[in-house]
Amino acid sequence: MALIVQKFGGSSVADRDRIFNVARIVSNTHNAGNDVVVVVSAQGDTTDDLLAKAAEITHDPSGREMDMLLAAGEEISIALLTMALQSMGTSAISLTGWQAGFRTDQSYTKARIQRLDTERIENELNRNRVVVVAGFQGLNKMDDITTLGRGGSDTSAVAIAAALHADRCQIFTDVEGVYTADPRKVRNAKKLEEISFDEMLELASLGAQVLNNRSVELAKKYGVELEVLSSLNPVPGTVVKEVAKDMEGMLIKGVAKDTDVAVITIMDVPDVPGMSFKVFGILAQKKINVDIILQAGGRDNTKDLTFTVPLGDAETAISVLEKNKARYGGGNVKLRTDFAKVSIVGAGMQSHSGVASRMFEALYESNINIHMISTSEIKISVIIEKKDADRAVEAIHDAFIH
Ligand code: ASP
Ligand code: MG
Repeated sequence: MALIVQKFGGSSVADRDRIFNVARIVSNTHNAGNDVVVVVSAQGDTTDDLLAKAAEITHDPSGREMDMLLAAGEEISIALLTMALQSMGTSAISLTGWQAGFRTDQSYTKARIQRLDTERIENELNRNRVVVVAGFQGLNKMDDITTLGRGGSDTSAVAIAAALHADRCQIFTDVEGVYTADPRKVRNAKKLEEISFDEMLELASLGAQVLNNRSVELAKKYGVELEVLSSLNPVPGTVVKEVAKDMEGMLIKGVAKDTDVAVITIMDVPDVPGMSFKVFGILAQKKINVDIILQAGGRDNTKDLTFTVPLGDAETAISVLEKNKARYGGGNVKLRTDFAKVSIVGAGMQSHSGVASRMFEALYESNINIHMISTSEIKISVIIEKKDADRAVEAIHDAFIH
């Protein structure tokens, strides 16, 4: 007998049939003699629909009311799933995030979990009930409802698994696992048997969209092994763990595309000590994350500084840079939003030379121009034009994964 946490995403509980499908998976697990805690997301597009409803009322809703609204989505799911379980003769109880003991910090709409008091969950498990918990929500110290940011139910599930020392944490979704590329777009995309936390983190933050990256961070921190699998097709999924075994002959684990990039260039900034410090200091003050940085020699003791920021921060970045020109010595600030980032990820490439050149060769053969490059121990990213991104992913994938 084991303690198993099972998380089901919005598409897995989208309608009546899907809810009963989930209820069968859960009750089978429970009937096999396991303790089961279930975490669910809001049904289908519910969260998007709620956001749209709010936008019909105001474009500047308070965070508190937004969370009051958004939390409702998950509360519908827990009640319906619990009813389905009970109708099948499985003893079950639903708990909101706060009933389940989630305490968070103050930041509405992107709260972080501070504590999880598991007493209630444990009491219910001791009564041999399946415990169905609303993901994505908690309570702050003012006893107001908070939500954890989009995709936050994964994080709720991992937190419960960590706190209860669960034997397994299964993340059910509508794909069969983690793939080497988006299987809807890349023909030969392969499902991975295993992937490491670090690789998954890179892929998650690069827009691979199977797991929320905060959930992977948390899983890494507490050593919670995750199993990503399909709620619709009962085949083995992908295990996410500290050290993943390398698949035969595969240097990289995945190719990902991220279109959430804006490229900012400041042309003709003075080529003097401290200039980068000043520019990036100004951006840091606004909590803008700078990703890839390129510095190129310019003319007459000036240089050009190019870097990427998330699209959503681009306007703020431009305006603070314009406003503070005197602080870093001026220059011509330009923004481009027609770029994308394409990356390869894999711990296996650390010990192999020639990975970068193979990637660049694939781009060259497809006649795709590289604007910026960045490398780390387990990742190589290039900034290319957005219109070329899908072709680039395909070409790079073909070059590495057979
Ligand atoms: N329902 C929330 C969202 O759509 C949380 C989640 O699905 O994990 O972002
Ligand atoms: Mg969702």
